[in-house]
Amino acid sequence: MENIEKGTLSINSENIMPIIKKWLYSDTDIFFRELISNACDAVNKLKKLAELGEAHIDEQNFAIIVQIDKKNKTIKIIDNGIGMTKDEINRYINQIAFSGASDFVEKYKESLDGKEIIGHFGLGFYSAFMVSSKVMIDTKSYKEEPAATWVSDGTTEYEIKDSNKTTRGTEITLFIDEENEDFLMEYKTREILNKYCSFMPVEIFIEVIKENEDNKKEEENEKPINKIPLWVKNPKDCTDEEYKDFYKETFNDFNDPLFWIHLNMDYPFSLKGILYFPKLKHEFEQSEGQVKLFCNQVFVADNVKEVIPEFLLLLKGVLDCPDIPLNVSRSFLQNDTNVSKMSSYVSKKVADRLNSIYKKEKENYVKYWSDISPFIKYGCIREKNFYEKMEPAIIYKTTKDEYVTLDEYLEKNKEKHENTVYYVNNVNQQSRYIKMFKDENMEAVILTTNLDSPFISYLESYKIGVKFNRIDSNLSELKEENTDESQHENIINIFKNVIGEKIKYKVEALKSKSVPAIIILDENNRRMMEMSKMFNREVVMPVEEELVLNSNNELIQLLLKKQDNKEETDIIINHIYDLARFGQNPLSEVDMNNFIDRNNKLLEIVLKQ
Ligand code: ADP
Repeated sequence: MENIEKGTLSINSENIMPIIKKWLYSDTDIFFRELISNACDAVNKLKKLAELGEAHIDEQNFAIIVQIDKKNKTIKIIDNGIGMTKDEINRYINQIAFSGASDFVEKYKESLDGKEIIGHFGLGFYSAFMVSSKVMIDTKSYKEEPAATWVSDGTTEYEIKDSNKTTRGTEITLFIDEENEDFLMEYKTREILNKYCSFMPVEIFIEVIKENEDNKKEEENEKPINKIPLWVKNPKDCTDEEYKDFYKETFNDFNDPLFWIHLNMDYPFSLKGILYFPKLKHEFEQSEGQVKLFCNQVFVADNVKEVIPEFLLLLKGVLDCPDIPLNVSRSFLQNDTNVSKMSSYVSKKVADRLNSIYKKEKENYVKYWSDISPFIKYGCIREKNFYEKMEPAIIYKTTKDEYVTLDEYLEKNKEKHENTVYYVNNVNQQSRYIKMFKDENMEAVILTTNLDSPFISYLESYKIGVKFNRIDSNLSELKEENTDESQHENIINIFKNVIGEKIKYKVEALKSKSVPAIIILDENNRRMMEMSKMFNREVVMPVEEELVLNSNNELIQLLLKKQDNKEETDIIINHIYDLARFGQNPLSEVDMNNFIDRNNKLLEIVLKQ
C-alpha cells in the first residue's frame, strides 16, 4: 500500500515562496549554484562518514550529473552522495524555519541586494522554485532505509511518499516553467555551470537527453565542467607551468602573466588564492582586472571590493574565503571586522611578495616595472599602509638608464641638489634639458605615466621636505654663479625688439655653452595650470614662461657684436626662440610654417654668400 504523507511547509509567519520568487528574479541562474553545491556537500559528507568508518561505500566514482531533457522540460541534478531519509527530508526540507526563515523574512526587508543572502539562511534548495513550476526530490540515504520522494509545486503544500529509487544519492527534478525554458538549452546551462561550478570539488557532467528514431538515448558529455582549483594546492607543489595554464584558462588570456602571488593561510582566518599581475598591453591602458571570489570553491562574485582592497581589483586572480559570510549582503560585509582584516592582510602580502621579488630577482623586477608600476603607484595613493610597505621597492628609471629608489637618488645627488628630485615627463620633448643635465653629470628620473603627477604630489605630502621639479623648471645647478651682468640688458633688448613682450626674459651664464636659449616654467605655476585643465576650469591661468638667454653661448655673443643686417638678425633671433620653444610644446601651425620658411631663407643666404 502506498504511503503518502501530505503536509504544509512549516514557515512561521509568512509564505516565503512569493518572496523567494520575486526577489531572486533578477539573478535566477544561482539556483544551479545552490543545488549543485548541495550535491557537492552531499558527496563530501559521505566521504567524511566513510573515512570515519560510519558509512560503507563500494565505489569511489563520485559525480554530479546535470541532465537536461528538452522534450519533458526538466532539468535533473543527480548526485551519489549521502542521500536523505524521509525523516531528514522532513527536517531539512520541510521545516524551512530550521535555520531561521523568520529571520530571513525580517532581513530580506532591509537588505538591498537580497539575492546575496539566500544561502546564508539555509534556503538554497528553494531557489529551485525560481525557475520551476514543480520540484521533485527522489532520494535514498546511505543508511539502510527506504528511499523517498518529495514533490511540491511551489506553494507551501508538499507530498512525500516512498520511492523505488535503488541507488544511493539524491535526484532533484526541476519542472522548468514557461518563462524559464531558456535553461533547457545546453549552452546556457554550460555557461552558468562554467561560471559558478568550475572549481567545485566533485566532478560535474552535463547530460542531454536526445531523442533517437525509435528509442530515447542519453548522451553523456565526457568532459566534466570542473577545472583544478590550483589555489588549494600547496604553493610548493605548483609549477610555473601550472600557474600560467591556470591563468590562461581562467581569464581567457593568451599571454602569460608577469608573475603571481599565491596566498595560503589558515590562521586567524582561512584564505587561499592566487593573484596575477597581467602584462599591460600598452602604457596607458586602463587596466581592468578581475578577482573572482569563492567560498569553498563555489564561485560567489567578481570583484567584491569589500573583501579585496580596491586597488588589487586591477589584478586578475582568485580568492577563496570560506570563513567569511559571503552569502550575506554587502552592507554586512562592510561592517565585518574579519573582512577588513582580510583585506589588509591581502594587501600586506602583495607588498611583501613584491619586496621579496625586488630583493631576490631584481633583474625581473626591473623588467616588469613599467607594467606593474601604475598598479603599485595607484595602490600607494589609495592606501598609506601599502605605500609604507612598498616604499623600499618603488624604483625610478633615471636619465642614465639606471633604476634607483627615491632614497638612493636623493643620497646620490645630495651634494648638488639636496632633497630635490628632477624629473622628465616627456623624454623626446625635453631632450635638450636632458642633454644639459648629462653634460653636468646630473640625472633626472623619468616619470611618464598619467598616474605620476598625482603620485608626485602624494610623495611630497608624505616625505616632507622633498620636492619634485620638472627638468625645465629651474636652472640653479646648470648656471655659473658669477657672471658679467653688464651685458644682460643689451642681450634682452636685442630679443625684445624682435619678439616683443609675449615672454619674460632673463640672461644666465649656462654651463652648457652650446645652448643659446632655453625656456623654463615655474613648477608650482605649471602644476596649477595642469590641475585647472584636468578639472576643466573655464579660466585657465597661463603659465609664466621665461626665456633664458645664455651669455656663455657663441651665437648670443655674436649677436651682441653684429647687427648690421636686420633681415638676418631677425631670422636668427626668431629661430633661437622657436628652437627653445621646441623643448616645451609643438609649434602651432602658423609658427611651424614661419619656422620652415625662415629655414629655407637661411639656407638661401648661406648658399649666396
Ligand atoms: P543549506 O544547504 O544552506 O543548509 P538548503 O536549503 O540548500 O540549505 O538545504 C537544506 C538541507 O537539505 C541541507 O543542509 C542538506 O541537509 C539537505 N540537502 C539538500 N540537498 C541535498 C542533497 N543533494 N543531498 C543530501 N542532502 C541535501
